[in-house]
Amino acid sequence: MPIAQIALDVPLDTLFEYTAVGAQAEDVGRLALVPFGRGRRVGVIVGFAETPTVEAGRLKPVTRVLRELPALPADILELARFCAGYYHHPLGQVLATLLPQRLRRMPPARAEEPVWRLSSAGRAVEPSSLPQRAVRRRRLLATLKERGELSAGAVRAVFPGAGRVMQEFLALGWVERGTATPRVEAPAAPYPLETPPVLNPDQEAAVAAVCAAGEGFSAWLLLGVTGSGKTEVYSRLIAHTLAKGRQSLVLVPEINLTPQTEARFRRRFPQASIISLHSQLAEGERLKRWRLAQEAKADIVLGTRLAVFTPLPRLGLIVVDEEHDISFKQQEGLRYSARDLAVYRARQRGVPMVLGSATPSLESWHNACLNRYHLLRLPRRAVEGARPPRLGLIDIRREALTEGLSARLILALKERLRRGEQSLLFLNRRGFAPVLHCSACGWLAGCPRCAVKLVVHLADRRLRCHHCGHEEAIPRHCPDCGALELNPLGQGTQRVEQALRRLLPEARLLRIDRDSTRRRAALPDMLEKVAAGEVDILLGTQMLTKGHDFPRLTLVGILNADGGLYSADFRASERLFAQLLQVAGRAGRASADGEVLIQTSLPGHPLFAALAQGDYEAFATTLAAEREALHLPPFSFQAWLRAEAHSMEAVMAFLRAARACARPEGVTLYDPVPAPLARKAGKARAQLLVEADSRSALQAFLGPWLVSLNALRARQVRWALDVDPVEP
Ligand SMILES: [Zn+2]
Ligand SMILES: [Zn+2]
Repeated sequence: MPIAQIALDVPLDTLFEYTAVGAQAEDVGRLALVPFGRGRRVGVIVGFAETPTVEAGRLKPVTRVLRELPALPADILELARFCAGYYHHPLGQVLATLLPQRLRRMPPARAEEPVWRLSSAGRAVEPSSLPQRAVRRRRLLATLKERGELSAGAVRAVFPGAGRVMQEFLALGWVERGTATPRVEAPAAPYPLETPPVLNPDQEAAVAAVCAAGEGFSAWLLLGVTGSGKTEVYSRLIAHTLAKGRQSLVLVPEINLTPQTEARFRRRFPQASIISLHSQLAEGERLKRWRLAQEAKADIVLGTRLAVFTPLPRLGLIVVDEEHDISFKQQEGLRYSARDLAVYRARQRGVPMVLGSATPSLESWHNACLNRYHLLRLPRRAVEGARPPRLGLIDIRREALTEGLSARLILALKERLRRGEQSLLFLNRRGFAPVLHCSACGWLAGCPRCAVKLVVHLADRRLRCHHCGHEEAIPRHCPDCGALELNPLGQGTQRVEQALRRLLPEARLLRIDRDSTRRRAALPDMLEKVAAGEVDILLGTQMLTKGHDFPRLTLVGILNADGGLYSADFRASERLFAQLLQVAGRAGRASADGEVLIQTSLPGHPLFAALAQGDYEAFATTLAAEREALHLPPFSFQAWLRAEAHSMEAVMAFLRAARACARPEGVTLYDPVPAPLARKAGKARAQLLVEADSRSALQAFLGPWLVSLNALRARQVRWALDVDPVEP
């Protein structure tokens, strides 16, 4: 009797064995309902064994193999195994992450919604041949003819009581029961067919190089300045892939970007079936789209990081746009990097992959330097005559600012207003002010649950923690000394907005941040207003920096760039450079000349010199030399053991025990340290860094260490390994 090995969504790094009468080798990858504890669960059959690891008599039988549900293809199962091994996460939980939730729920999902469909006898009946007074029967028959099939819900929607009429049709043999045919979502409005723009020589060379490499795995790093037309290169490669009858997987960092990119692809490829996959989809919808991809009915799959796990039987191309973006790395649960897994998949399936960015991650840049990736350059803006924006630094050390705004920046805003052009102000801090301060005793309002200050939100007179969500009313007096004078210190977007309304009352102002875009369609509505020219000054956080095109924008002001220059995170300057170059790239994307003004108290910092040149490669070369000297990634490989508990003593005791039980061969273990955010949502947090010269040395150490860590049985401590971390 075969023994089925089943992966279940439980935090244990083990497979569960069940007897499975009648199960066959091709059931690997199928979902199965099994008894577990006092209940039942849905798991994935990942293999079969001849002999069980425990006494066969103690094994329970599989309740049912869910053959009516789609099985996971072998390559996705292999990807899941790789993920479990590389990120040291239980296979059952990896599978739970990548499968649509709907498939795993209890009771097991039905594969398809049952529908009513006309039989051949029913198709022969004309609604007009029914008696005149049989109004409802006529209507139902006509609806069936028009729509082909109707679900139970759709039947009820035709008119109340339509279900009974349907039963009559069934008795007459006019209809039959069936399962819904998956349908490709038609675009809401017909998109106009787009004529592809003429490629410039750089774009043409990039497309030609990838196409010339032909079939098989190849990795390309497309280094293209903002506005250089990377998307057009992707489009040509997708067209090429479509022509071969193959599927393309396009990964993008942000959910905000998907509707715009999706619309662009729909305009370009009206005949192709395009689906988007992201975390905000309703579960039923996610399952539907996932199945379209799996059944090879989707030609282009566009999605955020989770989409890297989509089954694609005809896969022919993978594109990762804005590959440097840290949102490709999941920061909790299965801490995977979708970009790195995309490379794995491309290699596994033997297809070309393109990583695109204006500011590639230093890891990818290093891979290009080592010729592991082929480097493709788009050094020019695609629009004829578009020039890179002029960059000006405003030294704010000796200037009294007006609510964070320098005189030169205010003047530049007035100038744009007079000329009827748009400006963008970038301040990566939402709320009114970052902290509330008592000038009498120096008290600062802190979060009771986290090691951070509370942000002042003046509009509704609340103090809020941006890490745990804690909020409270702004106190009337200082809780320490009773003084009445409490002042908000520093600037957030709301405060600058208030100041601008006073300074430039005639300007039409729009603030874009997490607070102003909470409503579901708020952001698209706002972007539409911007595109329609109904906004003079845009003020916002990093939400503004990505993807969106603002053709009439000629001025970008950066209010406070210095945070990233002081940070303890070794990646902070890389991120700051990427962010500033990205936001600077919003200026003058079309023909109008752009100007970027940066307020800083460190105008001599070399980062600004590289930024002024718009020279990513010079910056990356310097940064790489620094990292190499300091033996930091990509010149070394890291993993954090992250832990949290109610007290710092408990966390530190666990980490010290973890360090003590390690056998560090070929790796360096550092001392446990409190996390950068040492207290979050009431939990104390600390971590321990492991560093190695090679990926294999790191992996060789982590496997056995994990076994020892599990043996510590630290019940009060929650811990996890973070392999290839992108945050300190
Ligand atoms: Zn006080
Ligand atoms: Zn908090």
